[in-house]
Amino acid sequence: MNAQLFVVATPIGHLDDMTFRAIEVLKQVKLIAAEDTRQSIQLLKHFNISTPLTACHDHNESHKIEQLLDTLKSGDSIALISDAGTPLISDPGFKLVRAAQEHNIRVTPVPGACAAISALSAVGLPSDRFSFEGFLPSRSSQRLSQLEQLKDETQTLIFYEAPHRILECVKDMAQVFGSDRKVGFAREITKTFETIKQFSFAELISFIEQDRNQQKGEIVLVVAGSTAQKDLQQEKLDEILNRLLKDLSVKAASQLAADLFGIKKKIAYQRALELTQ
Ligand code: SAM
Repeated sequence: MNAQLFVVATPIGHLDDMTFRAIEVLKQVKLIAAEDTRQSIQLLKHFNISTPLTACHDHNESHKIEQLLDTLKSGDSIALISDAGTPLISDPGFKLVRAAQEHNIRVTPVPGACAAISALSAVGLPSDRFSFEGFLPSRSSQRLSQLEQLKDETQTLIFYEAPHRILECVKDMAQVFGSDRKVGFAREITKTFETIKQFSFAELISFIEQDRNQQKGEIVLVVAGSTAQKDLQQEKLDEILNRLLKDLSVKAASQLAADLFGIKKKIAYQRALELTQ
């Protein structure tokens, strides 16, 4: 009774991104639960995989779970795939994975492509801390209010967006985040017309408006986190340092400023030096 639920990532464009392990697992399991079986048939054919497919998508996931759990409980392993990339990442599968965990069925990830991570790895924005936001609401009023909540977030933000909404979405983002904020635009990753660039929002809007091809295909937006709080702190530190430097040495002024701001003396000293030069 070693049945497992494998969560298998598939390519987001270039078929060579399929992993050896993904092919092996998909060949060995008893059943493949796929978001859209017609779409997955093409992928399976390409890799000569003849394992039976069953549909498991947002509309049938709840009642399909019982059936899939029965298969797993009878000792047969199942692989879960989505149309592209990693299942559960803006794709179905969460309910099935949760149910499998609740029934003590081993869930094994088979990692591979994910558009969000691929975009983050290439757009050149800070990647140490990020928040995956998935798709924003399609109605502008709801989208704007969600963006408002993210306005002061300091982590890098990752969004998925449909091509027909990209321009209005980017305009809403520019309105809330400011037209100077940096944004990474990653379109058609791994495909023929792959476009990966970093802009300000103002530049991105004119790039998309001038070339209608940029409103086609699949798109990830990676938005730089807010620096407003940091900028304000920096401004205040400079103000205090400038005042202290009028009467004190660089060392004394930076020590006092470091105590006042609760920052490292080295940082205050470095800034004090910069201000005196
Ligand atoms: N599960 C997938 C993953 O791991 O990335 C995401 C599925 S979600 C339904 C589809 C969205 O992912 C697209 O609308 C687009 O925002 C993004 N996406 C998928 N493939 C992409 C690609 N090749 N280039 C850019 N974005 C892509």
